[in-house]
Amino acid sequence: QAKNEQRGTIRHFSKAMDSQVREERALRADLQRALEKGELHLHYQPQVDMDREVIGYEALLRWRSAARGDVSPMTFVPLAEETGLIVPIGEWVLREACGEAASWSGRTKVAVNISPRQIKGGDLPGLVQRVLVDSGLPASRLELEITESVFIDDFTRALSTLMRLKALGVDIALDDFGTGYSSLSYLHAFPFDRIKVDRSFVADLGTNERSDAIMRAIVTMAKSLGIPVLAEGVETEQQWSWLSELGCDAVQGYLIGRPQPPHAISRGVTRVQAQN
Ligand code: C2E
Ligand code: MG
Ligand code: MG
Ligand code: MG
Repeated sequence: QAKNEQRGTIRHFSKAMDSQVREERALRADLQRALEKGELHLHYQPQVDMDREVIGYEALLRWRSAARGDVSPMTFVPLAEETGLIVPIGEWVLREACGEAASWSGRTKVAVNISPRQIKGGDLPGLVQRVLVDSGLPASRLELEITESVFIDDFTRALSTLMRLKALGVDIALDDFGTGYSSLSYLHAFPFDRIKVDRSFVADLGTNERSDAIMRAIVTMAKSLGIPVLAEGVETEQQWSWLSELGCDAVQGYLIGRPQPPHAISRGVTRVQAQN
């Protein structure tokens, strides 16, 4: 009796696995075609200094699937990384974002997310150089956002690729700072141009003493290293005033602006008013 029950459970379990595997395979196939079908788009989210002047926009991938509707990058970017599809998709993102930014006036930068797969394999510095030439965007207006996971596996190789990228004149930002496990050694090894503090540290600023203390420590450390700090996920005026008081250099979040399609963003130097 017990044995039969167990068998039933296992059969049930593997059936659920089956359908999950099948669903993932279907999603992967759809994603593979998304690029050629023109279903991928970029939205742009403003980054402002503490005078609320726009210093740049972060390009964020959007997938509007004919079959599935909007699919979140939290779902399809990890899948694209697993399958290696992030390499052609990432190249498309880079070309698209640089082409778009070349039409913006002034010194407004574009920030592009780069996956570890793009750093580890292939010739990313060569690609970036070609894209800059083709788009006419000055290197100084491109910022590449990487996470510390690029350093896992082959630290030396990642470091030398980053150095070659930096030598092109582009900026390198360390994204999602604080969520990994040994960020400090990476800050020591590579001269990042910006630290983006993960929004989990911003969420309860001003209401949680521990978050305040951590944010203060990050800003102090970054300042003594001479690296500007940007806080992600700023949603309230209260978070803004705390960050301002702590000496944070720049901010990104729904308070300032949501990611928007390129036609909706202002292209010149602008001062953004709070939205809520
Ligand atoms: P990320 O690079 O840390 O991007 C910031 C994420 O926070 C974005 O989510 C953005 O929409 C969201 N966000 C911005 N302000 C706020 C806020 O005030 N509150 C809240 N709750 N969220 C906010 P999104 O667009 O869903 O992207 C998720 C992640 O997907 C990105 O995190 C990045 O890791 C990845 N991603 C997006 N586009 C690309 C891309 O072109 N290439 C690669 N490799 N990864 C990408
Ligand atoms: Mg990012
Ligand atoms: Mg981030
Ligand atoms: Mg993040």
